[in-house]
Amino acid sequence: MKVYKAGEKSKAICNDCASLVTTTFTYRDVPFDDGKGLVKDVMASVCDQCDRVVALPAQSTPAVRRSREIADVSLEVMLSASDMELLDLATWRIDPDSGLRLRKPLLAYYIQRLLGDPAAIARLQAKSSTRISTAAKAMKIPKRRLSMKFAPKTDASMRELMKASGLNKSHLIRGIVHEIEDDLVRPQNPKNLQKLREIAMVVVA
Ligand SMILES: [Zn+2]
Repeated sequence: MKVYKAGEKSKAICNDCASLVTTTFTYRDVPFDDGKGLVKDVMASVCDQCDRVVALPAQSTPAVRRSREIADVSLEVMLSASDMELLDLATWRIDPDSGLRLRKPLLAYYIQRLLGDPAAIARLQAKSSTRISTAAKAMKIPKRRLSMKFAPKTDASMRELMKASGLNKSHLIRGIVHEIEDDLVRPQNPKNLQKLREIAMVVVA
């Protein structure tokens, strides 16, 4: 991606001059991409003949892009206390000081990763239903509420996993928790721990 500095020259078609003109990159107030309102001082390519903005370089896209407020989607599931312990053990192993802050990013990371893994559906189906021993069934395992808000993209990915696996939300989350258990809780030296620690540093910063 070419990044321009103020004063650099280029060529572009100017609609007002109806010709190929030389342009100069400089800071101008330009409209937001939805046409409502102006963004101040954005790098633009300006016609040397008529002084109109003829183009915006890629580096100006974030500034003119009107951020659309998209509401987060709540996730509420009941997990057994033991599943919640596994999730919190995994986040604790990634970063002991993160408290509850890594629950959501860890689940979101797994949701995206599992969606890209063709073998994941069968694994999730298996892991969502097993591991409740007869002894545990006989005892009353307390339930815990897992409550968080996902970005719409994560929610959509979770729904795709639900559809592909035929699992409801709480079974899917349970399957994911057991996947996390196998990756991060049970191994002596979990494979992805260093990578997850790096992600965690960004997330809990
Ligand atoms: Zn012009």
